[in-house]
Amino acid sequence: MIGRTRRLEPVVDLVAEHTVDHAGDHTGDHTGGRSAGDFDLRALLATRASEAFSLHERYMNPQMPRILRTLGFDRDYVRAEGAWLYDADGRRYLDFLAGFGVFALGRCHPAIERALRDAMECALPNMVQMECGPLAGLLAEALVTRMPNDDYRVFFTNSGAESVETILKYVRCATGRPRVIFADHAFHGLTTGALSLNGAHEFRDRFGSLLPGCSSVPFGDIDALRRELRAGDVAAFVVEPIQGKGVFVAPDGYLRDASELCHEHGALLAVDEVQTGLGRTGTMFAFEQWNVVPDLVSIAKALSGGYIPVGAVIAKRAVVEKVFDKMDRAVVHSSTFGQNVMAMTAGLATLHTLDTEHVVTHAATVGTDLIAKLREVGRRHEVVEEVRGRGLMIGIEFSRPRLLRLRAQWSLLETMRKGLFTQLVVVPLFRDHGILTQVAGDHQNVLKILPPLITTTEQADEFVGAFDAVLGELERSLGLLFGVGRSLALPAIRHSR
Ligand code: PMP
Repeated sequence: MIGRTRRLEPVVDLVAEHTVDHAGDHTGDHTGGRSAGDFDLRALLATRASEAFSLHERYMNPQMPRILRTLGFDRDYVRAEGAWLYDADGRRYLDFLAGFGVFALGRCHPAIERALRDAMECALPNMVQMECGPLAGLLAEALVTRMPNDDYRVFFTNSGAESVETILKYVRCATGRPRVIFADHAFHGLTTGALSLNGAHEFRDRFGSLLPGCSSVPFGDIDALRRELRAGDVAAFVVEPIQGKGVFVAPDGYLRDASELCHEHGALLAVDEVQTGLGRTGTMFAFEQWNVVPDLVSIAKALSGGYIPVGAVIAKRAVVEKVFDKMDRAVVHSSTFGQNVMAMTAGLATLHTLDTEHVVTHAATVGTDLIAKLREVGRRHEVVEEVRGRGLMIGIEFSRPRLLRLRAQWSLLETMRKGLFTQLVVVPLFRDHGILTQVAGDHQNVLKILPPLITTTEQADEFVGAFDAVLGELERSLGLLFGVGRSLALPAIRHSR
């Protein structure tokens, strides 16, 4: 049902209806048998949703509302469906961010919602803990079925970072070795272990010393990896097939060579597919495109269709058996919510839907077409250095134009803040064309899109047209470019760390 249109009642409408119900006898559709004084989500949103930004300022990270206001991204979203977000003013936005990739199936997918409602209506025993729940077993089976062979075991987590933490523990335990190698520019999450594998200083700085024994090699540099592995103390090389920050695609043969080298030196290859996994790059797992059989794979994001935090590590049986090698070690690694019924249900429904709606092949087709069209646009605009990616994980890198009059403006912007040009594309894409995108990592001139995998060709074309128009406008209005750049650069500089 790709490209489905299902009318969802806007929260504001529900809220208006509710107000009547609330004053009356609570027999309306939306009361759900609620009595006066019961918690009422709709009433809460009706009365308080408009305070969202001030609530965040007062009780949460105050830099977030500041940056959103600076960029003009301060919208009150009231409903969402498929690839669309709708704000309180009735405007709609094409969501090419997909919640950083979690909404592979688009938002509010009816199959996942139905499954979750079913799970609640069945009143299933959830997290008994001293049990082996069927749904976790079934989801583990469904994941292993999608691996190159069945010699794998699954551990469930609550996030991508927790999956990476699990990898760190597993590889050290299984090999008895202390060191872990990661790639420059890598992003594996922001908990302290995962942060120890982070290739960007801006994330690491000021958080003190991290996990010892973690060192980086340039992404794609097989000789550098060989040098590290030669010491014989490396437990694993942890790598993204396509780096999320900057959308750098592993060179042909890289992962295969890395795998062989790791095994030659008694180390494990762990592929972080938190972002690339579950169809994002046009195959179920990105590693398939490099013809590699990883020892461990981390996933998260899209696994629940975006509804419930969930992640998993799919690891070779031999690794798992080393960690859990006796009965009294059955819980040496575990997580209270890991196998919760809602996450497992959403995971099963998501994998089922990816298959039945042929979402992965759809993503491959739309993505290939989109990349080709963006390259075509890129040929018309000097600032576009490269369009790269696989499937629907796409990065557009900008670089200093050759044309003299554009060059001076570019340099000026880069002096204000590195990567500022990309922000000047992201802002009008959102403001003038209603398309949500992002700058791929700090200080980089890469615009990144992660459209839902159910994105239609028409929606992809809408982005291509808007992107072309924004670049044309930017190239024409150099003075304006400088003005907008200044207003974005100054607060950004002041507020960044
Ligand atoms: N690994 C990769 C490759 C990621 O892209 C991310 C999130 N962007 C993470 C790990 C961390 O995931 P989470 O935010 O769920 O902790």
